[in-house]
Amino acid sequence: MKASVPAVDFHTHIGEVKSFSPRLKGWVRVGVEDLLSYMGERGVERAVVLSLPPDSDPYAKVVSNRRLLEAVEPHAGRLVPFCCPNPLNARAASLFKRMVGEGCRGLGELKVQLRIDDPRVVRLLKAAESLGVPALVHIEEGPLFNYCYGVDKLEDVLKLAPDLKLVVHGPGWWRHVSAEPGTEAYPKGPVKGEGLVHRLLRRYDNLYADISASSGLNALARDPEHARRFLEEFQDRVVFGTDFPCLSEEGQFGSDGAHLRLIGGLQLPERAVRKILRENAEKLLA
Ligand SMILES: [Zn+2]
Repeated sequence: MKASVPAVDFHTHIGEVKSFSPRLKGWVRVGVEDLLSYMGERGVERAVVLSLPPDSDPYAKVVSNRRLLEAVEPHAGRLVPFCCPNPLNARAASLFKRMVGEGCRGLGELKVQLRIDDPRVVRLLKAAESLGVPALVHIEEGPLFNYCYGVDKLEDVLKLAPDLKLVVHGPGWWRHVSAEPGTEAYPKGPVKGEGLVHRLLRRYDNLYADISASSGLNALARDPEHARRFLEEFQDRVVFGTDFPCLSEEGQFGSDGAHLRLIGGLQLPERAVRKILRENAEKLLA
């Protein structure tokens, strides 16, 4: 299916990603033309194209930082580049500021094995705050592999950077949509009560969440009744994203249309759909 309004995909990459599917071995490589092709097929007008911090992920060689700025420059109206120096680099904040001067529109995807309130992470987030650009952070339960962890410290970060437009996603965030998050990364079945996700979104109006990849998809698909209530309440704070070109059970996020099908199938008011697919992203990028 196509998006019902010209959409903004707030979570994409270009470059190479490793397949973990038993049905597809090796790596998948996409360039700008492949991204634009997916966007055209699905009615996505603009996409945020995210970097990863250098040397942070052996399973994703995504085009990042200066190389990304160069790659998307010919498509400036449609592709919006975010950059992310490695917070372990002592010069990360000043490198980021320079990249914003060169056309970078936000910080992300911040994905390193550090607790989210680690001073090195906070320093980068504060740089984004001072420049007035949004930041996008991947949260896992961790400490695990190369992901930010410590969702219980997210509130401290929000207090430290009260003017930062902060977009979060990942299993370590989305499973807390339930009052009983359990221990699985992708819990199934009905959402019980209200979790940390509800509490933080109600308390901090500079906090946003993207529904990309399996984590956002699962958090909403596991309980459509809850998803409808949740998206009606937080229609100003949830943004559509896919994690193209990462691989899904059906093939490839974005190209598979799964996130659009989910939003389209919930019978949400048209106004809420328009905000989630487009207007909230535009507000973040303004
Ligand atoms: Zn991603």
